[in-house]
Amino acid sequence: MRLVRVMKFGGGAVADGKKIKTVANLIRRSKEGTEEKETGSNGLGLVVVTSAIFEITDILHENASRVAKEGDVEKVKEFVNELKNRHETAASEAIDNKHVLNVVKKEIEERVGEMEKALVGICLLGELTARSLDYIVSFGERLAAPILVGTLQSMGMDAVHLTGGDAGIITNANYGNAQLTSDAEEAIRGRIIPLLDDNKIPVVSGYMGETKKGITTTLGRGGSDYTATIIGAAIDADEVWLWKETEGIMSADPKIIKDARKIPYISYMEAMELSYFGASILHPRAIEPVMRKKVPIRVKNILKPEDTGTLIGEEPEKTERAAKAVTLIENTSIINIAGAGVRSISDVAARIFSVLAAEDVDVIMISQGSSERNISIVIESAQLERAIGAIQSINAEGTVIRDFTSNSDVCAMSVVGAEMAGTPGVAGKVFSALGKEEISIIMISQGSSEFNISFVVKKKDAYKAAQAIHDMFKMGR
Ligand code: ASP
Ligand code: MG
Repeated sequence: MRLVRVMKFGGGAVADGKKIKTVANLIRRSKEGTEEKETGSNGLGLVVVTSAIFEITDILHENASRVAKEGDVEKVKEFVNELKNRHETAASEAIDNKHVLNVVKKEIEERVGEMEKALVGICLLGELTARSLDYIVSFGERLAAPILVGTLQSMGMDAVHLTGGDAGIITNANYGNAQLTSDAEEAIRGRIIPLLDDNKIPVVSGYMGETKKGITTTLGRGGSDYTATIIGAAIDADEVWLWKETEGIMSADPKIIKDARKIPYISYMEAMELSYFGASILHPRAIEPVMRKKVPIRVKNILKPEDTGTLIGEEPEKTERAAKAVTLIENTSIINIAGAGVRSISDVAARIFSVLAAEDVDVIMISQGSSERNISIVIESAQLERAIGAIQSINAEGTVIRDFTSNSDVCAMSVVGAEMAGTPGVAGKVFSALGKEEISIIMISQGSSEFNISFVVKKKDAYKAAQAIHDMFKMGR
């Protein structure tokens, strides 16, 4: 039977022409089955997903907003030229075959031309809608994929480019964070499987999808991971490999914790907790699709391709280590809300969470005192102003909230491990590690899955707290 694998390459992996060549070589080795014996001589069915070239998505975001504000058409031309040059340079470095290079350059020119038209429109209208923003930022992936395709073709491989829509990534119209529709899976199979049967290598532009009407959407920042796992689940791939410029999933941020180590194996649930809680290694929703189909994910290091990376799978590992990783979200704020005597706490909570949701504020943690009518919530500091405005608006129909205060001098932290469920004393160990360092805890919450314990400390204590917990559970060994 043919093995099928989806391989996704992040922006860092395709940062320039030289790196794109390295990526193409990795693809060739996988395709030919020469990097691992078990894939056999028939090679394997390979689907490639690519991100935009390094930082291009950020650049597109910034320029779309700037253009709408400034309304200067000349500046649009300047920007579009820079973008075209950067992609043409990458293509020239990566693609040896002259004919292929010319075809790719033409494609770059066409795509950039489409984007220019849209940007000029935004410029003249002075308005940037969520829909047009998605259209603009999708050009990062739209431009990167043809360069990778050209590189593969130039090496003699039969690669074809697909946009998200071409690949069957059909979504709703929730721009900036679009959700897959229920008929997408079948569409994906219908588009991808025939290409694999023809022994072609589909190269899909990550991050982007399309509504049923053909309007471009995006899946949220870092969404190429999600594209890869959506496709992997839809076609029942044997594995999804996410190539990054990191060793894999780590026990802690190596910039903060000296002896942080790579975690060789982790379960879906644990990886999901980690991606929700500050370890920006995976798109938060990337685990969902593969979890249902039990398709394993491998996080691989592009700088050390022979390394096995981190494997993410169904079963939690049997280990003595009750807690595996500690993460922290810097730049968080806590809002303490005191309810008025007349309303029930659940009524107050319901109103708070609905106004926060309406303002797109992501709530990281919640805790509620049972005796006092208090609710504390933790959010990213960047969303604080929006959150405060939303909470202030509640009292319009009569006093619901007596008082509220906020504090941005805090850091939210999380300790993750499947063995925490049903292991008595884990929480005790976490808090005694902090007690020994005389770190006081401002707020605590434990997810009902018992895969994690989250808490808030003062900003100045956060790194010390992370190290104390990392040491306590011997996470570095
Ligand atoms: N290029 C997109 C981003 O930077 C998607 C991705 O890289 O996964 O968010
Ligand atoms: Mg990225």
